Amino acid sequence: KNYTRLDVLKDAKENNVRYIRLQFTDMLGTVKNVEIPFGNLEKALANEIMFDGSSVQGFVRIDEADMYLYPDLSTWLILEWESTPSGKVARLICDVYTTEHLPYQGDPRYILKRNLEEMKKLGYDKFNIGVEPEFFLFKLDDNNRPTLEFSDLGGYFDLAPIDGSEDVRRDIVLEMEKMGFQMEVSHHEVAFGQHEINFHFDNALEACDNIQTFKILVKNVARRHGYHATFMPKPIQGINGSGMHTNCSISDAEGNNLFYDPNTENQLSNTALCFIGGVMKHAQSFALVTNPTVNSYKRLVPGYEAPCYISWSDANRSTMIRIPATRGNSTRIEVRSVDPSANPYLAMSGILAAGLDGIKNQIDSILPVKKNLFKLTETERKKSGIKNLPESLYEAINLFSESSLMKESIGEELYFKLIEAKTREWDDYKSKISAWELEKYLPII
Ligand code: GLN
Ligand code: MG
Ligand code: MG
Ligand code: MG
Repeated sequence: KNYTRLDVLKDAKENNVRYIRLQFTDMLGTVKNVEIPFGNLEKALANEIMFDGSSVQGFVRIDEADMYLYPDLSTWLILEWESTPSGKVARLICDVYTTEHLPYQGDPRYILKRNLEEMKKLGYDKFNIGVEPEFFLFKLDDNNRPTLEFSDLGGYFDLAPIDGSEDVRRDIVLEMEKMGFQMEVSHHEVAFGQHEINFHFDNALEACDNIQTFKILVKNVARRHGYHATFMPKPIQGINGSGMHTNCSISDAEGNNLFYDPNTENQLSNTALCFIGGVMKHAQSFALVTNPTVNSYKRLVPGYEAPCYISWSDANRSTMIRIPATRGNSTRIEVRSVDPSANPYLAMSGILAAGLDGIKNQIDSILPVKKNLFKLTETERKKSGIKNLPESLYEAINLFSESSLMKESIGEELYFKLIEAKTREWDDYKSKISAWELEKYLPII
């Protein structure tokens, strides 16, 4: 999809595109946009649309507020699901530039591009990412506000009528396909009202753009059916939370998967083993970008198919990294700690930097753990050298703050802003008096 400005203009005219959304992602992972009518498209394509960066989370200070949007022409997409008989709506994902016409260092998309450039310096071509986002569907109340009532009482892989939401999932898949996405599988997940939809893997930048598009679409289609879709990692205590398993591999310019080596015992290359070693070494440090909310850490507890210990295995699903059985060009590692509240651009940057550090420094990954980690005692785990993922946002902030690799990967601009914003979030949370405390202490103390 190498569109020129003329292609975009022509396509817009031919398809009766009336409005164009100029999108970008803020520090916390929220998609933002300004919309322009078709008449302004040429101006936008000339990178002349400005916005006030001081009102965007993690962007510039008030005295240097003007920023430019540079549309990435390859992201031109007609949003079929938003189209009306009177005209269509399209979007362009934009890079954020300063008034000096330089890439803004705190733009998450730019940060990922920078990390991908670092990878290219090592002679690699693509960081392939395939994600498995999970989400809940909850009923809306009479005022269209989300409740905690499940959309259905189905379970893993159930069919209708137990799975009462399959029409919602089908609608999501259909709308994604209409926009040209290659969809893979969609199914009911373990918890009531919980679902998973997978689309085809892509190079990290495109994969992250797709995640953002997917999330908006899921929320909108769900609304149409009277549901609220949430990517909150652990909306309900006592049942599974929602993860976003992230399958990664690295390939060269000829498209060869460099994680595959037919001549080793498990057919994983040294590159793959060192990448795993790096991811494990830095897993505590990058947790803040893969699991960025207070709620993220309520998912990473034993007993709900979410990892809490840092280890890898070629089969066991209780580990943080699993190696799916497939080999050859589909060889990949599945990072299972990531959750869908993450800003994907920052999450992939963190994982990539960790993996590349493993390759550069030939960090050997310790032996695969074949046992069910949740059944080991803490002493047994410690003896095998297995570390824990952070247990709270507070711990994650501290570990991230101590990591020079993360400072380099995220870049000073956003690194410090993220620490500041997340510290504020934690301070706010920790000062709240919870229902649990009142129930526990009020009657007896
Ligand atoms: N929902 C689980 C999690 O929190 C994953 C379940 C699965 O896909 N096997 O990661
Ligand atoms: Mg899956
Ligand atoms: Mg799943
Ligand atoms: Mg999975």
